[in-house]
Amino acid sequence: MAAVAGLLSKPFRCCVVGSGPAGFYTAKAVLKQFPNATVDMFEKMPVPFGLVRYGVAPDHLKVKNVEKTFRQVAESGQDRFSFFGNVDVGKDVAVHELTSWYDFSVFCVGASTDRRLGIPGESLFGVYGASEFVKWYNGYPGYESHPFFQPSELSKCENVVVIGQGNVALDCCRVLAKPVDLFQKDATDITAYSLRTLSETNVKNIKIVGRRGPTQAQFSVGEVRAIGKLPNVRIQMNDENDLLNLSEASKAELDTERRIKRLNKLFASYGKEEKAECDAVVDIHFYKSPVAILPSDEDPARVGHVKFEKMQLELGGEPFQQRAVGTGEYATVPCDLLITSAGYRISSVEGLPVIGERENHVPNKNAKIMLGEGNPCRDNIYASGWFRRGPTGVVLTNIEDANFTVRSIVSDVENGKIDVESRPAANDVFEHTGIDRNHVVTWDEFLKIDKYEMELGKANRKVREKITDLNEMVHIAKRTE
Ligand code: NAP
Repeated sequence: MAAVAGLLSKPFRCCVVGSGPAGFYTAKAVLKQFPNATVDMFEKMPVPFGLVRYGVAPDHLKVKNVEKTFRQVAESGQDRFSFFGNVDVGKDVAVHELTSWYDFSVFCVGASTDRRLGIPGESLFGVYGASEFVKWYNGYPGYESHPFFQPSELSKCENVVVIGQGNVALDCCRVLAKPVDLFQKDATDITAYSLRTLSETNVKNIKIVGRRGPTQAQFSVGEVRAIGKLPNVRIQMNDENDLLNLSEASKAELDTERRIKRLNKLFASYGKEEKAECDAVVDIHFYKSPVAILPSDEDPARVGHVKFEKMQLELGGEPFQQRAVGTGEYATVPCDLLITSAGYRISSVEGLPVIGERENHVPNKNAKIMLGEGNPCRDNIYASGWFRRGPTGVVLTNIEDANFTVRSIVSDVENGKIDVESRPAANDVFEHTGIDRNHVVTWDEFLKIDKYEMELGKANRKVREKITDLNEMVHIAKRTE
């Protein structure tokens, strides 16, 4: 036992790539398990927190409370933890070059793009993956000038269709329908340009469409409820019979899963109440799969309609117990804006294995990335979070996931697969890799951006006003006060 403890107390150097929930929970677990390890965290953006800053909805500030834990990791481990923002690993520095400086590295780079539907019309003007809308309202650099999410376009949208029945679809739906004064009343960090644009929307009908039935919807109960509580929005079932005509397998799901039971009770309660001030209706459609996105009659470059096939459920077919199969019956609905929210897509990191069309996580065995033949990296690279297991689960799911990855690293250390013996000669990672340290944003420099944003937010009755221009962020980080 003492020998094992001795192994873990060696001065390991750990590199964590990505500073979202998976990155910070991994850093926390490494610092705990390896009492003398140092952790260097690299992040593409000049600011940390990944999905918490750029994914979590701007009216879900309670979820963002996890930032407190992340700040503690960075600040309580000052001498053992370093943040290096504004470094795009794979582009600014080769993966093999960076990771060769460290005893082990963990990639926690999440999922940043959308799973495509692969149907005709997906490139029409007015058709976007949910991640684009989310990045736009969350102030991701480069999205302020999005060609569609502008007052001139959004003010013309009466009919919105959202495809997919997960929580991201609900976030998009809620942000579109919510009266703008409620964002400020509830405390928010939504960007000023998004608020301005959203105040011009004229959305009357949002269809939120699933290819399977009410017992397969991925929604959380609280998230559906949050839309139902909006004073100006009425939720209704497109066909109440969908709640009644369940297959035997769906009835069994309803009986055994608490979330599904509560969700279906909620569905059944909708459509019964009248709201005096109803600006928009959220219409929940089940058993419809999009087959084509059709152009508008006036402008062939712009979306005008979506064609759906009516589906029914059939037992079997991975990964589901019941999959949707077409019935050959079709219907077309009008659409001014189509948001596809069919789940996120993991992107490959240059220098690590390419993620194939059919996979949605990096190839790994017990969190160790399977590098494949010919890859110049040392065999000491791991993954955690969505990058390891695919884009499912809530922020806190990453705690167990980080522990899983770090247990795997501990086991490799104990089995003699990782040691600190053969260190590169250079004094530090900057000398070793040639990364220009003048471009790197450190933790203390990030705190300057943080302070600036919070002060700007206060002036606008918000928790923060995010800086959305990369150069401006770096400029604020580097100026001397
Ligand atoms: P998700 O929960 O996996 O939902 C994806 C939806 O897209 C499902 O309804 C799925 O239907 C549908 N879909 C997939 N492929 C499709 C296709 N080809 N045609 C039609 N529909 C298709 O993904 P998500 O909403 O992106 O969320 C990602 C994760 O983040 C989830 O774990 C979610 O809970 C979490 N999240 C949580 C919160 C929160 O707690 N507030 C907020 C945002 C996100 P099938 O089931 O039939 O595949």
